[in-house]
Amino acid sequence: MGYDAIIIGGGLGGLCSALHLSLSGLKVLLIEKNGFPKHKVCGEYISNEVLPYLNSLGFNPFEFGAKNITDFTLSTPGSRSISTTLPLGGFSISRFCIDAELAKKVQKAGATITQETVTNISFTNDQFKVETKDKTYHAPIAVGAFGKRSNMDVKLNRAFIKRKSPFLGVKAHYKGTFPDTAVGLHNFDGGYCGVSKVETNNLNICYLADFENFKKYKNVADFQENVLSKNTFLRDILNNAELVFEKPLTISQVSFERKNPVENHIIMVGDSAGMIHPLAGNGMGMAIRSAQLASERIVDFSNGKIATRSQLETNYTKAWNNEFSARLRSGHIIARLFRLGWFSEFLMILLNLFPFVLPYIIKGTHGKPMKASF
Ligand SMILES: Cc1cc2nc3c(=O)[nH]c(=O)nc-3n(C[C@H](O)[C@H](O)[C@H](O)COP(=O)(O)OP(=O)(O)OC[C@H]3O[C@@H](n4cnc5c(N)ncnc54)[C@H](O)[C@@H]3O)c2cc1C
Repeated sequence: MGYDAIIIGGGLGGLCSALHLSLSGLKVLLIEKNGFPKHKVCGEYISNEVLPYLNSLGFNPFEFGAKNITDFTLSTPGSRSISTTLPLGGFSISRFCIDAELAKKVQKAGATITQETVTNISFTNDQFKVETKDKTYHAPIAVGAFGKRSNMDVKLNRAFIKRKSPFLGVKAHYKGTFPDTAVGLHNFDGGYCGVSKVETNNLNICYLADFENFKKYKNVADFQENVLSKNTFLRDILNNAELVFEKPLTISQVSFERKNPVENHIIMVGDSAGMIHPLAGNGMGMAIRSAQLASERIVDFSNGKIATRSQLETNYTKAWNNEFSARLRSGHIIARLFRLGWFSEFLMILLNLFPFVLPYIIKGTHGKPMKASF
């Protein structure tokens, strides 16, 4: 069967691309190596900037119990803190829920989802050949939505994959008390931890840690007790939380190095195109926005409004850089400064003296509300 577009990876970037392209009348195949639903290491707080677009795709997260988040608390390793109302606000929903519900919409819109691992992508005679262990698929468009680190990055010989990254991500759901409308970002020595309630009323506790620091401890529990709990906010939350998962999920080698939004003619979306530091809390927003930027251009290419592939690639690269370069820079600078313990304590003193500055810092890592596409 011939497809107009093949999407590799079924996270938020791939799912939104598949939904957008299918609703635009394209024949779409989405290849995802895991089944739905599945838990993922993620803070699960999404900025409201994505809502107009998600709604236009026919998806409303509040139908599935997403928590409406309006309040934000930031604390330092030394437990200095500041709280504010979020400029745009956001919502909190588990990846277990949102990815699976979006996948249902994708299938309803007419796309095919297959559970396979892509092992190779090649481009000849203006067509992509996408290979899995047992099958080969062809299409004029391939969207790379395979996330922060994939076997496909190795296959494509991407520069970032050759360098080691010092970051480790840990996440689990807990039973515990926490306000429904709040998200907390609590820093600890060598990392940060995001806390919010999700649609199940469980608490999502997710953190990024320096691997060198982490490996000094016996296990996740030991690390949490001896490092995270030095921050009194995290100590209070963890001491009153009961683990719901069998054990926390972990991922290693989380990299924030620069990537190209187009590689070997593949249009990259989400973390495959570039990843913002999670302390900025906007990776999912970027995945969804990049899916919109890519899909609108792919539709224009398919109906001839964008005449050549080279125009499609240049146009998308430009749009991606316009939209995300400044955000990525702000996110990385903030994260780097927060890793200097003394600086974050000093910054917090300043922020408490001039609290009106915090919303500007948050805005620097987020975008404007997206427009509806349909
Ligand atoms: C610790 C941590 C906390 C975070 N907290 C937040 C937060 O609170 N808010 C926020 O907005 N962002 C957060 N993020 C970032 C956010 O999780 C990502 O930016 C977002 O998941 C990107 O979506 P994606 O679709 O690009 O990738 P993913 O959701 O990772 O999806 C990629 C998919 O591709 C599939 N895949 C990979 N290779 C193949 C293959 N060869 N064949 C088939 N399928 C393949 C994978 O199975 C996966 O399902 C956080 C990240 C980390 C690490």
